Amino acid sequence: MSELTRLTLTAAREGLAQGHFSATELTQAYLDAIEPAGDLNAFVLTTPEKALDMAKASDARLASGEAGPLEGIPLGVKDNYAVDGVRTTAGSNILKHFVPQYESTVTANLWRDGAVMLGKLNQDEFAMGSSTETSAFGATVNPWRREGSSQPLVPGGSSGGSAAAVAAHLCAGAAGTDTGGSIRQPAAFTGTVGIKPTYGRCSRWGIIAYASSLDQAGPIARSVNDAALLLRSMAGHDPKDSTSAKLPVPDYQQAVGASVKGMRIGIPREYRVDGMSDEIAALWDEGAQWLRDAGAEVVEISLPHSKYALPAYYIVALAEASSNLARYDGVRYGERVPGRDIIEMYEKTRASGFGAEVRRRIMIGTYVLSAGYYDAYYVRAQKVRTLIKRDFENAFAAGVDAVLAPATPSPAFGIGEKSGADPVEMYLQDVFTVTLNMAGLPGIAVPAGLSGEGLPLGLQLIGRPFGEEALFSLGQVIEEAAGRFPCPEDWWR
Ligand code: GLN
Repeated sequence: MSELTRLTLTAAREGLAQGHFSATELTQAYLDAIEPAGDLNAFVLTTPEKALDMAKASDARLASGEAGPLEGIPLGVKDNYAVDGVRTTAGSNILKHFVPQYESTVTANLWRDGAVMLGKLNQDEFAMGSSTETSAFGATVNPWRREGSSQPLVPGGSSGGSAAAVAAHLCAGAAGTDTGGSIRQPAAFTGTVGIKPTYGRCSRWGIIAYASSLDQAGPIARSVNDAALLLRSMAGHDPKDSTSAKLPVPDYQQAVGASVKGMRIGIPREYRVDGMSDEIAALWDEGAQWLRDAGAEVVEISLPHSKYALPAYYIVALAEASSNLARYDGVRYGERVPGRDIIEMYEKTRASGFGAEVRRRIMIGTYVLSAGYYDAYYVRAQKVRTLIKRDFENAFAAGVDAVLAPATPSPAFGIGEKSGADPVEMYLQDVFTVTLNMAGLPGIAVPAGLSGEGLPLGLQLIGRPFGEEALFSLGQVIEEAAGRFPCPEDWWR
């Protein structure tokens, strides 16, 4: 790892501002780090020429005093963000040659603020998964390994490429997306910080849709402050997304390090699920103690409908996915496979373009929306969604400022370990993360400790609507108490 790629985004920004190194040098250092890291399979495409051109322009702006808030910072972008002129596949064969002629709002915001684009990052196909194993480009490998073992582990998913690249210092930060945990779970598995902001905080325009009422963009970074800087640039109202919120974006960095004295933190009783490991339970208690030590008040709360969140999520998300993915028919979008007539063309296109997990989800989603089953599944899941939201509203109305919970039920697992015959094994990964997508609330995952086998474990803080600032303040307390968790060694070089 070079001295330059070792820096946090915050420190790199400082170094650039003081002229210790140039944006071109920093970008080149990251490109040099990515090149030998092929075994991690974090990037599906690099854009070195674009990166160096952007870095050169950044150097000019730094020299003339016109630097933006992320001037010269090299970033990776999950492959479901449309980037103008750059192949964008969402990890799917059906989009393997798709080159958008437009830019997503979130990436446009990052480039407006001076960031440099290194390339596109691997993900589960259409963001459907918790391990980045369903990608058409093959699995991403977690840079972390169990102590004394060389077994390859998953980085989590679906933003697994983003998390692995940030943890392995292949980019200074990354843009991910989170529909049911896809930013927070990979962050927890790789010792990085990930925040899913409130639904509507970031524009969804130009992001390939999975489940539109749940999808949100957000950053993965190496520190809470880095995440605050990235989110400030990514967030904001966008007339092109009718669900984006017309609210000013706070300077989130101000909240990092701010006092949490007097904040009320809820510990939801129902999150002590069966089979939770002792390690995670102990870490959760430790996290509560850190917040208490910082002056917060910790109280037990009840979110009684939590146990229905996972099944309801897997109905709502799949219903929306089946509708969103109908557009890949080989006519308007998607790689066409010819057939005798149009029906056979549709069938062959969709059968060969989508992977097995995506096909399964389209079928389940279509089933729960079909005439005879709509009320029994889809309508009922929507009612459960309202109840989950109400649980949180009641807690907030009783004075709770944020909720503390584990991010995941376990540390990173082995490649192939949960991708067998029973898909529910993988779905259970999302038990602590889907609730807040259903409620539209913000959540941050912060590394908080190491497992007995030396793997990172994360804690999650859930906030009030548009209460991201409280999450940055509380996340910083955890980061300071727990310390940072750098990747053990760069074995992949
Ligand atoms: N693992 C969850 C799913 O497969 C969440 C994925 C996501 O947040 N994109 O639906």
